[in-house]
Amino acid sequence: MYYNCHIHTFLNVDVPEKFLPLSLVRFLASKERSRFLARILHHINPFTDNDLFDRYARFLMTGGLDSQRSVLAKCAAYYPDGIKFVILPMDMAYMEAGRVPRPYDVQIAELADLASENQAVIPFFHVDPRRPGVFDMFKKAVEKDGFRGLKIYPPLGYFPYDDRLYPIYKYCQTNHIPVISHCSPYNAVHYRGCKHELLKMLSKSRIPLPDLKGKSKKELCSCFSDPRNWTPVLEDFPSLKICIAHFGSNYYLDQYLDDPGQADNWFVIIKKMLSDYPNLYTDISYTLNDTDYFSVLKILLTDKDLKHKILFGSDYYMVQTEAQERRFSMDLRAFLGEENFNLIAMENPKRFLGER
Ligand SMILES: [Zn+2]
Repeated sequence: MYYNCHIHTFLNVDVPEKFLPLSLVRFLASKERSRFLARILHHINPFTDNDLFDRYARFLMTGGLDSQRSVLAKCAAYYPDGIKFVILPMDMAYMEAGRVPRPYDVQIAELADLASENQAVIPFFHVDPRRPGVFDMFKKAVEKDGFRGLKIYPPLGYFPYDDRLYPIYKYCQTNHIPVISHCSPYNAVHYRGCKHELLKMLSKSRIPLPDLKGKSKKELCSCFSDPRNWTPVLEDFPSLKICIAHFGSNYYLDQYLDDPGQADNWFVIIKKMLSDYPNLYTDISYTLNDTDYFSVLKILLTDKDLKHKILFGSDYYMVQTEAQERRFSMDLRAFLGEENFNLIAMENPKRFLGER
């Protein structure tokens, strides 16, 4: 049994109205319109799959499908039968990017239904500590609806060690529920509220912050995501399984390849943390979707400490092109060989998820 430990199936209606530029979300509410736009954009520049608008169009086309079931079906087509998918929902109601058309509990209820009809689905629950009554919602999701894990997304405007999350971590540790946290710098999905409020939130940082003068909101929100913010949680909940997703991101992996000596590099920091904390994991989603990085991964898997801490995940449908999903599911497997692929896509996920 294989596992893809990181995919998304949420829909455009789960994304706040001001999140994408030019109110594209509202404009593309109908499938016809998004197809039409994708065609036009493709005609403008058919050779750039990495073009920003092309990416938006793809994002909106997939998110514009009629249900999470349809999004999953599109993703699953790239994989062999029998693979299981960890699905990470998004609660974007508190990032101050406008109204979210569909309430979060409806997104969650749809995911619960999908999990109940499809054995391949392993649903996680995203907790934003600002949502009133979120602990009760999470408990109900776990105890009644079969949710299997906790998802955390710090750049939306909260620290991993937020006081409000502590009772939830305690519950997760007691009940062997794993945690996956987004962790990459300069992310498009970040707190969009006023800078004054943002700086107020950041003033509670427990680690020294860089000079914040003149920094954009996107840059400022990276301070929430810093992997070092997980250290207090790892110390306070030593049995809690935590995955810091994206292995430091392409941004830091590129820097590492050019200059391996940088102490502030998140990739380097996470590597060290993986060795220090037995229940800490990372995944390769998004970051390693480029064949250029396959060799780095293969080398990391020769490290006796790291090889048991890396999880296979693709970040569907955040990767830029459909071709990358295929590359991820097939080319990576061929490149790594069965033994290594089994490690990251079978053995490690089983241990992380507590599967028998
Ligand atoms: Zn993701």
